[in-house]
Amino acid sequence: MTDTPAGPVSQLADALLQVLSENLPKDLRWQWMLLMIALALGIWVMRNGHGAKGADGRERKTELTAFLLPQDIYTHRSARVDVLLYVFERCLHPLWASGAFLAIAPSVEGSVIGALQSVAGTGPALAPTLPWMLLFSLVALLAYDFVFYCIHLAEHRIPALWAIHKVHHSAEVLTPLTRYREHVLEGPLYAAGAALSAGVAGGIFGWLFPGGITQATLFGAGFFGLLLGFIGAFRHYHVGFHYPAWLSRWLHSPVMHHVHHSYLPQHIDKNMAAVTSLWDRAFGTLYIPVKDEFTPWGLGPEAQEECRGFRQNLLAPFRDWSRMLRGPSASL
Ligand SMILES: [Zn+2]
Ligand SMILES: [Zn+2]
Repeated sequence: MTDTPAGPVSQLADALLQVLSENLPKDLRWQWMLLMIALALGIWVMRNGHGAKGADGRERKTELTAFLLPQDIYTHRSARVDVLLYVFERCLHPLWASGAFLAIAPSVEGSVIGALQSVAGTGPALAPTLPWMLLFSLVALLAYDFVFYCIHLAEHRIPALWAIHKVHHSAEVLTPLTRYREHVLEGPLYAAGAALSAGVAGGIFGWLFPGGITQATLFGAGFFGLLLGFIGAFRHYHVGFHYPAWLSRWLHSPVMHHVHHSYLPQHIDKNMAAVTSLWDRAFGTLYIPVKDEFTPWGLGPEAQEECRGFRQNLLAPFRDWSRMLRGPSASL
């Protein structure tokens, strides 16, 4: 038996596949996808075919296959652009975003340990039992939640940053992959934020446990990443996963992110959280939708024209920055 001869193109394809498989985000792993499908199936049964939205962002009753995998969403141009932006971003991610994380996290962690030592002396050298590992996971997640909110808010309020983040909002339909529809320049921004929060949490727990401690994990993600995983890919799924209103005031339900992607005036700049609703409440950006609320996705008819294709999205920040730079001089 002979192997198929491999030339430079096959080698390049192999290298690309390896980079993509090594950089598969945790919340796109099969376990989470299976859980998402199982919960969607439960909604379909309980609500007699209701609970999923179409490409237009309107809820509709469908048969099971269309409920789980609607043709109008998965054949939409926006879903294809998701794939291209994802591949492009993931190939550069290890160099670009991971580099930003590695450059920042250890020095933040070292500074926090040093600061705690100078204020309170040597740490208590606790034993890293499971409850402590769970607490470490929770603190790390809450620290990330706060930093994520701050970066996300800045992206919506500062035009130069919105020029980058609007690529995520240019999605006209939502699929689990839309979670990772990002301009390549956005990766380092969030990696720096993740490094900051991980460094602070790691510093506190590094001081408490000088012998070392790891976070409790589940399916390879931080244990409380169950919440993050649930809403990461889930909140970009077209099926509306609602929480009761009282719980939505504390935790961000996946369907609340449907609102974040809507271009209706009452939905603009709302629900910017990653995990909890605390910061949206504190800064007045919380919006709890009613069941099956209409959420047309994208930038809106006018702005969408410039951000449909892959190339348009890739060039979007540079086009907007150039306009911003030319704007004042043109008015002189
Ligand atoms: Zn946003
Ligand atoms: Zn999103």
